[in-house]
Amino acid sequence: MENSRGNNGNGHQQMMSLVINGESHTQANLGEVIAHYLASLQPCKQRFLGYPTNEEFNYSELAPLLHIHLNNAGDPFQGSSFTLNSTCFEVSVLDWFANLWHIQKHEYWGYVTSGGTEGNLHGLLLGREQFPDGILYASEDSHYSVFKIARMCRIQCIKVKTLISGEIDCNHLKALLLANKHNPAIINLNIGTTMKGGIDDIDVVIKTLEQSGFSRDRFYIHCDAALFGIMLPFLKAAGPKITFKKPIGSITISGHKFLGCPIPCGVLITRLNYINALSRDIGYIASRDVTITGSRSGHAPIFLWYNLQKKGLMGIKNEVENCISNARYLKDKLGDGGIGAMVNEFSNTVVFEKPHDDEFVSRWSLACNGNIAHVVVMQHVTIQMLDSFVEEFINSRSMWLQHGTIKPLCIAYEVGALNCTCPLHKAKDNPTPALQLVKQIV
Ligand SMILES: *Cc1c(COP(=O)(O)O)cnc(C)c1O
Repeated sequence: MENSRGNNGNGHQQMMSLVINGESHTQANLGEVIAHYLASLQPCKQRFLGYPTNEEFNYSELAPLLHIHLNNAGDPFQGSSFTLNSTCFEVSVLDWFANLWHIQKHEYWGYVTSGGTEGNLHGLLLGREQFPDGILYASEDSHYSVFKIARMCRIQCIKVKTLISGEIDCNHLKALLLANKHNPAIINLNIGTTMKGGIDDIDVVIKTLEQSGFSRDRFYIHCDAALFGIMLPFLKAAGPKITFKKPIGSITISGHKFLGCPIPCGVLITRLNYINALSRDIGYIASRDVTITGSRSGHAPIFLWYNLQKKGLMGIKNEVENCISNARYLKDKLGDGGIGAMVNEFSNTVVFEKPHDDEFVSRWSLACNGNIAHVVVMQHVTIQMLDSFVEEFINSRSMWLQHGTIKPLCIAYEVGALNCTCPLHKAKDNPTPALQLVKQIV
């Protein structure tokens, strides 16, 4: 058995590989293999805490659509000669998001992508087409796709420092802009960073551009709003709004994150006038080639449409509020258990010290980076799940720490001294500033 790919020590994968590649299976028991696979996923689903995908949905009404290949190749607004398409659903989904982010029907263009990454690629490419000699500014907490895209598109990219919250440090941005005055700026703005759920302040970023001498015809802002792009508009109190009433070029979200979808997908919305730079008329599909990929899922837009219709605005609002209040619950519960944690104000992402045991990390599907780990409290994450997670974490942690050879990790640099419970910061009684914003070794 060739099975040594060095995966994350997940026995589940090895067991499944045996079932899938085993010699015993015949055409007759393909169904059994799938049933076995499905059953093996259930325990993972019950402890799936670390990634921002909503695992709570029911699309069984759409099952008959699995008997047709639907393909939306081309420009959704032009239709195509591939008649088995779902562009009517796609345009309806796009209209919904255009309305959410305040851009008129005749002023926007967009499409349903294969995910947030493709949306970022498309948005940043539009920025580069607008400004071939532009420099991309992306905070160090940006999603890994952004730096890959910069390499793919050969855009010079400068990393900007972040604050403890994960949001972009506009003082640093300003210094970098002033040092590179002669090149237009392409900004990757994070509406919810992957690791900490930090939200870049769009108004301060625009002000920083203006103060640094960048007029509106010399910058392009792409908003990477993978998870929060659909959540923030439903939170009245949430700070500066992301809206096309402000000078931004594009917004993208991942469809399988907050909304939930069995297949990865995303939405990109931009201004119609940027699109012409990218598009070519293609006779073979009788459409405009203006997307990144050729063939595109015709099912994904229907799943999104169905989801939006079924939930309605009130349904979405309730889900957003629930996720955020459950995230607070988790943060407090960790705190009560002596585990330092941080959650940003309008965020469902709870950051805490990385557990010492890789098996524990994999058991709860936690995502880690350096000394920190996070839980993203999505719709399928119940209070009961959080309770058993915290209980197990506290018990395991006291075992890890009992001999004194392992010490709790210091996470003061990542989450601030106030939120850190390592021996040094726990013991510290000296008055710490109530609100430490800037990352520093403390
Ligand atoms: C998840 C995420 C992405 C990428 O989305 P995919 O749908 O996985 O391609 C991009 N940006 C941020 C901030 C994300 O959290």
